[in-house]
Amino acid sequence: MKTYKTVVVGGGIVGAGIFRDLALNGIETLLIEKNDFSSQTSERSSKMLHGGIRYLENMDFALVFEALHEKNLWLKLTPHLAREAAFYLPVYKDAKRPLWMIHIGLFLYDLLSSFKNSPFSIKKPEEVVLDIYGLKRDGLTGAGVYYDGIMDDAKITLEVIYDALKEPHAKAMNYTEVIKVEPKTEMTILHCKNVLTNEEFQVCARQVIYALGPFTDKFLKNCPGYNWENVLLPSKGSHLWISAQDLPLTHPIVMTPKGQGKNEDRVIFVIPHGDQVLVGTTEVPAEEDFNNIKPSKSEVDYLLTALNDYFPTLGLNQSHVLSTFAGVRPLVREGSGNDRGKTSREHKIFQPLSHTYVIAGGKYTTFRVMGQEITKEICHKFGHAYNRDITLKPLRQKSIVLPFEWKLPTAEDLQFICEQEMPKTFQDLLSRRLGITSRSLWTKRNPQVSFDDYFKSHLLLLRKYIRIDEEEIIRFK
Ligand SMILES: Cc1cc2nc3c(=O)[nH]c(=O)nc-3n(C[C@H](O)[C@H](O)[C@H](O)COP(=O)(O)OP(=O)(O)OC[C@H]3O[C@@H](n4cnc5c(N)ncnc54)[C@H](O)[C@@H]3O)c2cc1C
Repeated sequence: MKTYKTVVVGGGIVGAGIFRDLALNGIETLLIEKNDFSSQTSERSSKMLHGGIRYLENMDFALVFEALHEKNLWLKLTPHLAREAAFYLPVYKDAKRPLWMIHIGLFLYDLLSSFKNSPFSIKKPEEVVLDIYGLKRDGLTGAGVYYDGIMDDAKITLEVIYDALKEPHAKAMNYTEVIKVEPKTEMTILHCKNVLTNEEFQVCARQVIYALGPFTDKFLKNCPGYNWENVLLPSKGSHLWISAQDLPLTHPIVMTPKGQGKNEDRVIFVIPHGDQVLVGTTEVPAEEDFNNIKPSKSEVDYLLTALNDYFPTLGLNQSHVLSTFAGVRPLVREGSGNDRGKTSREHKIFQPLSHTYVIAGGKYTTFRVMGQEITKEICHKFGHAYNRDITLKPLRQKSIVLPFEWKLPTAEDLQFICEQEMPKTFQDLLSRRLGITSRSLWTKRNPQVSFDDYFKSHLLLLRKYIRIDEEEIIRFK
């Protein structure tokens, strides 16, 4: 059984960020993920690097300050995966937040960024309808325009992991599930299973960090020795992808639909990503199996209703939806409250044993700094100096297929992806390495090249590296 100084369990953005911080600081570290890296919450976000303008109302100023600084940092560090965009927040006559209030909020937002945000502006109705095709004019009093980032969430996580793996003492395994833990006085034995081959093995961790996102409570409850009490208030959020031909937006917009009760304060983002537009999100209790979470019909209807209210002439309906997805926010419960919208997005760290850390909550945007308290303590335990700024360095391995400039990968590209980007299944290759989420998206991007012909012609090459067969290619929707 191999002993590692540190093992991080969970290969979403939080685990990836901690893995990189430890690796760059010279600590021998293993990252273990039961599915593909970034295949759970961290590829199901609203894909914004943002300060969280909504959290100003909750007075979460410290979180907004930190998130805005991290947003502006990652816009610089990963310009190939994230872009700044002008978000339009249209305001109508009977809005809960009138234009003067939006004006103050946007000023505060820029102030909290230390004026590193591109400066906000307030636009007149006639300017807004010129900029936003199809937007309802009736009752429009203007719009606040502010700047946040849009990103490829799955790829940032992957590149953070690839960067850590440039260090010789860092190792990462996907499709490896921790199925049992045996905490001892000085270390932890982790029983692992390769879920593709069913092979079981053990590793020994002198320090272990669980970054399990929404899976935290379910996993730790089953580990005797931790006496774990549930800490999460899981909150489901759903999104739609709509073709940009049907909803031709050049700027993201922020909708504030009239809701009732807990839905009253919700905002819905409508964000153009190249040839698709992302619409989301909802916020409802997450009661299903988190491994197989899907948008409900009522969530899809809620998003379409809001779209039709803002874009009444476009006639958007279910037939315009290219695909949908849902994720679970791993919110940390505050007292006995269960209002998910008002629950803080701050992360929390728990330490059930002196060599065991658990981290949950937070925002994607703040991943770099969320785990620094843990990584600093671990560095000191091993007698290493801790450099918190080492993670300000740019990432060293760029993805072959980039989100904002799709190109059909050549055979050499596919070979590089298979060898360097660690996909293990056809789904890993399609969705997270190539950014293809549906067959219709492929057809829109490559009208001349049939999906089936392309992958069948590369089958021999791909089979050397990943699980794929002809049936799977044909079945892909
Ligand atoms: C709908 C929605 C929209 C959001 N939008 C934004 C946004 O726009 N911007 C933003 O900043 N944040 C956003 N967030 C928040 C952000 O996405 C999450 O906070 C973040 O992705 C959580 O990352 P994580 O690493 O904690 O969890 P995850 O990404 O879920 O990672 C946890 C990993 O642990 C693995 N795991 C679980 N059990 C085991 C085991 N036994 N062995 C090995 N591995 C295991 C899982 O497979 C999983 O990959 C959004 C969240 C949601 C749900």
